[in-house]
Amino acid sequence: MKTLTTSLPPSGASPASETGVFVSAVAPVYNEEANLAELHDRLTKALASLGRPWEIVYVDDGSADGSLGILTRLATDPRVRVVEFARNFGQHAAVFAGLAASSGEIVVTLDADLQNPPEEIPKLVAKMQEGYDVVGSRRRRRKDPVFRRAASRIINRLAGGHMSDYGCMLRAYRRPVVDQIGRCQEISSFIPLLAMQYARRCADIEVEHAERARGKTKYGFFKLVNLQFDLMTGFSMLPLRVMTYFGGFVAASAFLLAVFILVMRVVYGSEWAAFGVFTLFAALFMMVGFLFVALGVLGEYVGRIYAEVRRRPRYVVRQIHGGPPA
Ligand code: UDP
Ligand code: MG
Repeated sequence: MKTLTTSLPPSGASPASETGVFVSAVAPVYNEEANLAELHDRLTKALASLGRPWEIVYVDDGSADGSLGILTRLATDPRVRVVEFARNFGQHAAVFAGLAASSGEIVVTLDADLQNPPEEIPKLVAKMQEGYDVVGSRRRRRKDPVFRRAASRIINRLAGGHMSDYGCMLRAYRRPVVDQIGRCQEISSFIPLLAMQYARRCADIEVEHAERARGKTKYGFFKLVNLQFDLMTGFSMLPLRVMTYFGGFVAASAFLLAVFILVMRVVYGSEWAAFGVFTLFAALFMMVGFLFVALGVLGEYVGRIYAEVRRRPRYVVRQIHGGPPA
């Protein structure tokens, strides 16, 4: 929905003016113990190359492996902060928490599995300094399975095609946009798209995309389907509208068909009533099928309305390790 227009706070009122942090990097971490050492190393180098104060916020999304231990050790550096979730709440909840714990004037999000090369951050920041509120990235040669790429194409289409590659989490947001995202209370959401509701100027740059360094993807088929539904119900009314138009069209055609059959029956006699029975059956079953699909889509919205009205917290933080005192 494009109707969520809330005025942005003036950028002078941002916490960055208090802490002086210029760039914050936010990375959600879920069972990434094998990648963290390399990630941290490359990330700190990339951030240091900017020559401005920086910080890193890692969000441990209830990892079951040694990730949290590694992260808490990294948090002895005052520029590193670790938000520890009480359990797994999902990638986007983790990014939400990371954004909330960040204080930089520019916030860059990236995946912890090294698919988004940290070396691209200076490029994102340079683009931001041209005056953009959000800078996204397009994966130059995407290293993901075919069905993932197909799913992304559908997402991009559903989302209205403002940006070419929503699935790429390597993105930079300006502080007012981050603050505004933090004010959004909805539970099932997708941050790149949410940010678009509050950004005035957006741009895309091309970045490298690597194969997942170690470990395996946390997105199985069903999680992806769920994400698609999140996006569809969260950011578009199109399916509901399509259903209404389709329903209207079917009802009108059925009415015409009934009139036609009635007329033929009166004019040509009773055989017109018996023929076409099986065609009708076919049509009927097709309709029943469509009806179920339509009900399902409707159910998606209703289910999400139910989830939203419960107003459960999006995530539960157990502890925050390290970083400057709040
Ligand atoms: N992730 C997370 N919580 C989850 C699933 C994933 O924090 O429930 C993190 C994960 O550690 C990684 C990023 O989100 O840093 C992207 O996950 P993944 O690489 O599995 O997704 P893919 O690259 O396959 O889209
Ligand atoms: Mg990945």
